[in-house]
Amino acid sequence: MSMLPNLSRQKELLANYDRIANVIQTISAAKVDLVAVSKLKPVSDILTLYNHGVRHFGENYVQELVTKSQQLPKDIQWHFIGLLQTDKCKVLAKQITNLYAVETIDSLKKCKKLNACRKEVNQAPVKVFLQINTSREEQKSGYSLDNLSAVYETVEYLISEECDYLTLEGLMTIGSLQQSTSGDGNHDFEALIGLRDQLNEKYGLSLRTSMGMSNDYQEAIRQGSSSVRVGSSIFGSRPPKII
Ligand SMILES: *Cc1c(COP(=O)(O)O)cnc(C)c1O
Repeated sequence: MSMLPNLSRQKELLANYDRIANVIQTISAAKVDLVAVSKLKPVSDILTLYNHGVRHFGENYVQELVTKSQQLPKDIQWHFIGLLQTDKCKVLAKQITNLYAVETIDSLKKCKKLNACRKEVNQAPVKVFLQINTSREEQKSGYSLDNLSAVYETVEYLISEECDYLTLEGLMTIGSLQQSTSGDGNHDFEALIGLRDQLNEKYGLSLRTSMGMSNDYQEAIRQGSSSVRVGSSIFGSRPPKII
């Protein structure tokens, strides 16, 4: 494929990616996944990083992900990190054969839908993260910390034999901007780690955590994140989304 951006753009992308990968290594001896969030950025940018060995990319919009996945190599490991609507589960599960993870699960219904659709096409199981609304902000989706029975119910389904095309990978949160800029310990990240520990204990699991974005990934790693989702620090600022 010869759809690459100009050389200075290529250099910029690689330098940004390498810088962040180095920072991550400096902060943590443990392995932390770096997901490059490429929403609203062209396939040429993604291909540049792909040629550099990057495989984990995050996208927010189902149709954009479908289009990009058709144009890009099949060994990319796509993470869906956008708002998930039940009626879009089918497209994700069926059309993105190399869908690696869905990080924004917020209901049992969506798990059942994803599992059933993935089964129909008999593709590789998809990893899922349950999104937790740790900041209790109304505009954020995710399971509420005040209703853990909904979380338990979903976990129990995901670890049951009935659910054979999804694997429970961990918990995900976004956290509030206020917490990510407050300087010391982020309480939203702390809450996610606390819930992870509780679920690990209750069900004998070893769940991972997806937390940390451009402006708070360093703090997230210090607090024990196992996967960070970084967009603008790699790709630069994004154009506004026009729907
Ligand atoms: C856009 C987005 C990111 C990346 O955000 P940046 O601040 O650009 O790093 C990470 N996670 C989610 C859920 C997003 O929607």
